[in-house]
Amino acid sequence: MNLEENFSWEFLKNVADALDSYRIRALIDAKQDILKAGIYDESQYDIILYRMLDEEKLKYSLFNDLKNNSKNNLKTLIKFSDLNSIELSKTLCLLELLKNEKLILLEELVDEIEGDENNPAKFIFKDYSIKINDDPISQLKPIYEPVKVIFDSKICSGCGLCAGICPVNCLHIYNGFGKIDEDKCIRCGLCYFVCPRTFLPMKILNMTQEKASKIKDYEKIGHFLEAYSARTKIKEISMICQDGGISSTCLHYLFDKNEIDFALGAKMSNTLWRPEPVILKNKEDILLTAGTKYVNNPNLQILNQKELKNKKIAVVGVPCQMQAILKSELYNIGIPSLNTIKYKIGIFCMESFSYESLLEICKKLNVDIKNAKKMDINKGKFFIYTKNDEELNIPIKEISHLAREDCEICYDLTSESADISIGSIGSPSGWNTVLIRTEKGKKLYNKLIENDLIESKPIAEVKPGLSLLQKIAGSKKSKSNKHINSKKEESVRVPNY
Ligand code: SF4
Ligand code: SF4
Ligand code: SF4
Repeated sequence: MNLEENFSWEFLKNVADALDSYRIRALIDAKQDILKAGIYDESQYDIILYRMLDEEKLKYSLFNDLKNNSKNNLKTLIKFSDLNSIELSKTLCLLELLKNEKLILLEELVDEIEGDENNPAKFIFKDYSIKINDDPISQLKPIYEPVKVIFDSKICSGCGLCAGICPVNCLHIYNGFGKIDEDKCIRCGLCYFVCPRTFLPMKILNMTQEKASKIKDYEKIGHFLEAYSARTKIKEISMICQDGGISSTCLHYLFDKNEIDFALGAKMSNTLWRPEPVILKNKEDILLTAGTKYVNNPNLQILNQKELKNKKIAVVGVPCQMQAILKSELYNIGIPSLNTIKYKIGIFCMESFSYESLLEICKKLNVDIKNAKKMDINKGKFFIYTKNDEELNIPIKEISHLAREDCEICYDLTSESADISIGSIGSPSGWNTVLIRTEKGKKLYNKLIENDLIESKPIAEVKPGLSLLQKIAGSKKSKSNKHINSKKEESVRVPNY
């Protein structure tokens, strides 16, 4: 808290509300348990507590402001942002929390444009209607549940972030599925807060990426600045990479120039084709991670490793992992290990499988998994290339029932929340499609060109190009909408996107 602030009644009321917040009390009560667990030291604990207190204070400042107005809409939020010198996107994040905590009733007023198989329905934002819930605040203050509720409803994406930040280390993700040690859990709710499958303000994620000060609608592949088709010029990488080797080349450059100390990625475990998270320490380690793996890998789970503290990290991961990291940045709760993530390198992801499902696919293709050299999804088919140079494939339609259930509700193909997104769809074989999303991503990509590490062409110069990527991304969004709606009809819990 800033002691210079004016101690008005208004201010003190916000502080009192914040101190009464369940999450703050849970953290204070469990201080000794947290320090004993050894994930965070006392100074890190203090950072988490004070940042969270500041966030709660700002949230209640917005709540009390809304309460004092007779009519609340977008104009009110813009005024609040200006008065507090914060971005509109920050105010919208707080608004989302108030909605989740049922302190307000929030309605988005939109115009709807119908969708089809390849184009999801469009909702053109017009304004907000915000009403205060008049029940006494003490009855409304929620208890943030541990993410067990997400595991139990089978909507966990297996990103691993909850386990990576849990202050008492009582969560574990394996093979895409989560477990909790309920005896150890202190019910601080931090995991609920960072999880991309509890609530995820998609529009605000894109606004943050764009640094936009206006609310608008983002389509199919999210906000991006530039799009290219590219491939590596580094021989060691080109010899082992799946497509154009651009994600490995980014890491190569970042290690080479000491821009990062470590990177998180996925390597093959002792069980072939069952990946496991790995901390890459140098350029040579990059070769461990080459090739696409279709079994879920909870990279973010290892964010709690002591050697990562106060180090500069790049994370290479799938869209749900990029969403989890960006969401945590938005809510600025000061989790020390997250503060060190310097680069988010996102890869395209259509769906992932459990290891057991991958064995099923191999069985259908009549191949021993130990004989598989490379796997790929392309042109609507799942391919396995064997060590005896056979090419086997099966239409995705025939194996889509084997994909992880949570992937059905995933709306993001292209890692919309990354600094730079990389995949194969849209580019010729042996090349990557690269979407530059942030200034940081742009600077990194330009350095790869300046240092003669890659060949790069504007995506408009290659076939099939961006239109195919947009079509497939649009169809993933449509399918995700359908699944979410049908789950809602069955009253099954779905993420609040
Ligand atoms: S499981 Fe979640 S609620 Fe429980 S201690 Fe860990 S972060 Fe907190
Ligand atoms: S989606 Fe990620 S953060 Fe949420 S419960 Fe699953 S592993 Fe944890
Ligand atoms: S489809 Fe979505 S939820 Fe599934 S692994 Fe990929 S990014 Fe994560």
